Amino acid sequence: MSKNILVTGGAGFIGAHLCDRLIANGHTVTCLDNLFTGSRKNIAHLETNSRFIFVRHDVQQPYVAEVEWIFNLACPASPKHYQHDPVETVQTNVIGMIRMLELAKRNGARILQASTSEVYGDPLCHPQDETYWGNVNPISRRACYDEGKRCAETLCFDYHREYGVDIKVIRIFNTYGPRMAKDDGRVVSNFILQALHGEPITIYGDGSYTRSFQYIDDLIEGMMRMMSIQDFTGPVNIGNPGEFTIRELAELVLELTGSSSEIINLPAVEHEPKRRKADISLCRERLNWEPKIELRIGLEKTIDYFRTVV
Ligand code: NAD
Ligand code: UDP
Repeated sequence: MSKNILVTGGAGFIGAHLCDRLIANGHTVTCLDNLFTGSRKNIAHLETNSRFIFVRHDVQQPYVAEVEWIFNLACPASPKHYQHDPVETVQTNVIGMIRMLELAKRNGARILQASTSEVYGDPLCHPQDETYWGNVNPISRRACYDEGKRCAETLCFDYHREYGVDIKVIRIFNTYGPRMAKDDGRVVSNFILQALHGEPITIYGDGSYTRSFQYIDDLIEGMMRMMSIQDFTGPVNIGNPGEFTIRELAELVLELTGSSSEIINLPAVEHEPKRRKADISLCRERLNWEPKIELRIGLEKTIDYFRTVV
């Protein structure tokens, strides 16, 4: 059935894909974004649709609307952008979360929080499942994001217990695909752009750190399933359990682009998670979901996209 849906951060990478899916499913969508890292270009094709509205607004400010579902995605996701103004990142996560939970409470709306595998920090447990409480350094440069997201989860569960707000918490693992911002410094977009420009591929450290890389379409399907089912708050991991070293990713990007860029090693970044791999047992069991798009295929689609924008 058609719903009134609010998507905060809807002009960003994930948000724009989510808006596409919601509009395609017949819903009415308000996309709320302050355009800090998002862009009107990501949603330009939706702006002529009468069921789509864009509102330029900071999620930290009060917002009143009649909505049935809220997807709270507003927050810069790349380390470069969330560390640009760390106090702002904490405020967006914490004050923004309170604003949206208040809106959900007032409307009796369901709210999904886009949390992150970063809540596990530099994990001492591998792969990471939802029972793991994490290993986060509260004073590192990543903490504005990690602790902000952890506090947002806390707020969701407190609003759920205290006021009965219908919450959904998903922990998203590294996601990539078309419409990633060219300048956001994340590893997939960096490597593809470097390869296409014939520039050196910059590996920070020795390239032995690992990540699970999930293609955007798989994530959107997981988000839709989570939002649609009853009586399950999460938190639930949504990610691709394939685990790749950063060096393997660099080599795959070189192979798929046919680039002759050299790989160079730059100094390692401090306080980074060394290993990350999603345990998706809970997601398989409760959402009957698992990713369908393997890294090679997802990278080909993403490279095709970046070829059109470079
Ligand atoms: P993104 O930076 O492309 O999108 C974030 C959007 O939020 C942007 O459009 C930005 O302008 C907007 N925004 C930021 N601060 C805001 C504010 N104060 N008020 C209103 N809008 C604001 O990032 P993304 O990759 O699309 O990530 C979306 C969400 O998913 C984020 O909450 C992020 O933490 C979460 N997430 C993403 C990943 C990933 O790999 N992409 C992984 C884990 C979690
Ligand atoms: N990384 C890299 N070169 C780059 C960008 C990132 O080696 O040009 C590494 C980074 O140090 C980290 C991994 O790739 O170990 C993933 O980084 P990203 O910023 O994409 O995501 P996150 O660290 O938040 O998972």
